[in-house]
Amino acid sequence: MENTLTYAKEQDQNDSLRSFREKFHIPTHTNGDPLIYLCGNSLGLQPKSTASYLQQELDDWAALGVEGHTDAKHPWMPYHEFLTQAMADVVGAKPQEVVIMNTLTTNLHLMMVSFYRPTKARYKIVIESDAFPSDKYAVESQLRFHGIDPSDGLILWKPRQGEDLCRFEDLEAIMNEQGDAIALLMIGSTNYYTGQSFPLQKITELGHKHGCIVGFDLAHGVGNIVPNLHESGADFAVWCTYKYLNSGPGSLGGCFVHERHADNKELQRFAGWWGHNKHTRFNMRHEFDALPGAEGWQLSNPPILSMAAIRASLDLFAEAGIMNLREKSKRLTGYLEFLLNDLQDERISIITPTNPEERGCQLSIQVAETDKQMHAKLTGAGVISDWREPDVIRVAPAPLYNSFEDVYHFVTRLKNILRT
Ligand SMILES: *Cc1c(COP(=O)(O)O)cnc(C)c1O
Repeated sequence: MENTLTYAKEQDQNDSLRSFREKFHIPTHTNGDPLIYLCGNSLGLQPKSTASYLQQELDDWAALGVEGHTDAKHPWMPYHEFLTQAMADVVGAKPQEVVIMNTLTTNLHLMMVSFYRPTKARYKIVIESDAFPSDKYAVESQLRFHGIDPSDGLILWKPRQGEDLCRFEDLEAIMNEQGDAIALLMIGSTNYYTGQSFPLQKITELGHKHGCIVGFDLAHGVGNIVPNLHESGADFAVWCTYKYLNSGPGSLGGCFVHERHADNKELQRFAGWWGHNKHTRFNMRHEFDALPGAEGWQLSNPPILSMAAIRASLDLFAEAGIMNLREKSKRLTGYLEFLLNDLQDERISIITPTNPEERGCQLSIQVAETDKQMHAKLTGAGVISDWREPDVIRVAPAPLYNSFEDVYHFVTRLKNILRT
């Protein structure tokens, strides 16, 4: 690799996915230049095609009213089914294991209603220590809901003193010590803060060996890493679609339930009519009869406009191919890492793992002797990144729309700011 703009441009020239950048709206700086947008881990950019997907539904609603449920170009009644295959491909699941519904934290609660069934002896939940706040609140509130004090029921899988990353052997130690008392392992597949990606299959095997249920939050993993959910054996997983999946602010979330639970009607669940047998749903007078698979957890008829935006984005993923994206992502983030190391600035350290298999596209850069001012300068210089107190910049080059040139310009601008 070379630390030159020429080299970065060459990489873009040779990138078979380069045309996808043209399919996105790239926000511009006040001077009219495209921003260096490295914040797809927070909110993905808008595909240019999204508008026409939404317009189709608006037109069908205008022209058809309620008849759109059956007569729209993409009928609204089964609309979520149009997303299933592409979504399943992105997370590595069977179609029956996947559904788009609700939002992330809601789905996490619904999954815990079914899969966190504490008993007197087995009632604890393990999460990674720096889990995203919403996940922690959800888990703590589930514990309290069952009359369990989180100070007793919540176990944190922590990095060791003086380290930033969680070690698998420390999770093994927790399981060896307390496995019999643990009901649920609930881990973020890719940590939002450090960018560390955990080995889903290994964690699942470990949890199952100790008789625990294992679930993952893929908010920072979906559309980023290749989670192979089915093969991992995980019991359930949840994710949002507005980060790497580019479906727009607050858009719907996704949910995975492993096929081994598909036909288990004994599982407790909070039910709604959209999870009921499709053949009798509109007869309205039947006892609840759960659909097999993940669909059986749906509650409401979904917001079609949000679904349409997700469909627009998933069509791009299907076109690009998740494996191709992951391959490019490794090179793109590898280049970012190379350039940052080449700065040879002692104030900078990367807390994300160096092994590409243990991370997605994001690098979390710790900058010593600095504060939020530095990040503000970076924003002023046309770089959209993310600041986490006390001293971490998170940058996430997304392989669908970020270029090697983006990465090069980011590091150059960072260098200039650090010099002044
Ligand atoms: C982004 C994110 C959330 C946000 O939850 P919503 O319910 O979509 O608001 C929750 N958990 C994780 C790990 C996240 O990264």
